[in-house]
Amino acid sequence: MSAETATENELLLQFLYACPVGLVEIEADGAIGMINPLAMQLMVPLMRPPQGMNFFDIMEPYAPELRNLVEEFTALHGEVCSNLRIFISPGTKQSGYLAHVLSCTLVRLAADRFMATLSDVSKVVAQERRLGEAEVWFSSLLDGVSDFAVLSLDAQGLIDGVSASALRQTGFSNEDLLGKTLDVFDSPTPATSAVTVTEQISLACRDGWYLIEGWQKRKDLPADWCQRLIAVRSEEGEEDRTVTGYTVILREVVRQKHDALELKQMLTRDHLTGASNRAHFFEIAGRECSRFVRYGHSLSVVALDIDHFKSVNDTYGHAAGDKVLREVSRRCMVLLRPADTFARVGGEEFMVLLPGTDLRGARLLAERLRSALENMTVSYGNEMITVTGSFGCAEAVPDTSSPAPLMESADRALYNAKQMGRNMVVLAVAGEVPGE
Ligand code: GH3
Ligand code: MG
Ligand code: MG
Repeated sequence: MSAETATENELLLQFLYACPVGLVEIEADGAIGMINPLAMQLMVPLMRPPQGMNFFDIMEPYAPELRNLVEEFTALHGEVCSNLRIFISPGTKQSGYLAHVLSCTLVRLAADRFMATLSDVSKVVAQERRLGEAEVWFSSLLDGVSDFAVLSLDAQGLIDGVSASALRQTGFSNEDLLGKTLDVFDSPTPATSAVTVTEQISLACRDGWYLIEGWQKRKDLPADWCQRLIAVRSEEGEEDRTVTGYTVILREVVRQKHDALELKQMLTRDHLTGASNRAHFFEIAGRECSRFVRYGHSLSVVALDIDHFKSVNDTYGHAAGDKVLREVSRRCMVLLRPADTFARVGGEEFMVLLPGTDLRGARLLAERLRSALENMTVSYGNEMITVTGSFGCAEAVPDTSSPAPLMESADRALYNAKQMGRNMVVLAVAGEVPGE
């Protein structure tokens, strides 16, 4: 090796070592050639003992589609996938819903050489999810303003203003509240939240706002379940932002004594799959249609029906069919954005509501879902079950003011996909059924 090449190699190694993203060089069968320290750090927790250094094997439980994406990629150079989100573990309430998510871009460098870049995007995903929650919260804010109470806090977090509705809602008087911190509302049985008021305020300072739900103490009244939004008021200075105070909005949610979160789950979730249920889907779709009429953002739906599902039940039994339904939901849900709603609207029929997405975007998503299902295997005892799905996509048009026509339009496109041979995506245009 010449001195020049040696120096070049040395520089390259230094670069790989210091690179702020994980880099993995792989062959077409997934064998890992080179891996830099950050990629090693990201992948070690994913490795299972008997596995060798094969990228696809290691990623198989989290992103089984990677292998297929490479197999199906016929061009000699180019991007196999870009920023594919790989969900390693779901967020939990304890982790503040911080899911562990990697983003993976895979590029073909030569016939048998690929480079994968990996980064940890958990925080970005958590932020998106929180923005999604805030969006839902703010849109419901427009629906019924009557049960909101507003408080103002000074820069130290002490209450310096109380709306009449806040006095009514909490039972406290002005004297009880002014000069106190939000701790005054801490329920004697704080079962739900381990986040202290001080932490809530510092999180609000970090992100601009903070949203929390929990029991709230009232004076001479039973505690109630309440959502609390803390928004930061600030002034732009020469060099940085100074917090001048906070606006707090309190919203009573459900007055029942039992756990309102559980109740909310019961009312909105499908018990088998954890997807949204039909009623909840209609509620959200109705709200999104109103927003569509008001603001004109695009809005699409994708209808999904599993192909020949009856034969899954007939061949492997109903319990196996149930497992497939759960797995189908799980695989689809991880591919969606926080603002999207994935619902089980029938036995093996699902709908996805996509606010801010046009027909083109809906089609891209449906294609990703279709491919994810096609590549999925569900193990049941010694059996490996595979299924496919048919998809219909429709976009809201100017006179769409309720979800029904939009869903019918997607359903007709789905029917067409079935007619044309299944395992495909068909688009509806303005309520028509043109096929692909
Ligand atoms: P196609 O490709 O035309 O959609 O054929 P298919 O067999 O999927 O369609 P069909 O609508 O005839 O059958 C749907 C089957 O889904 C029938 C029913 O037994 C099954 N199914 C509905 N709900 C459930 C459920 O909750 N669990 C299980 N295991 N099966 C269900
Ligand atoms: Mg069906
Ligand atoms: Mg079916």
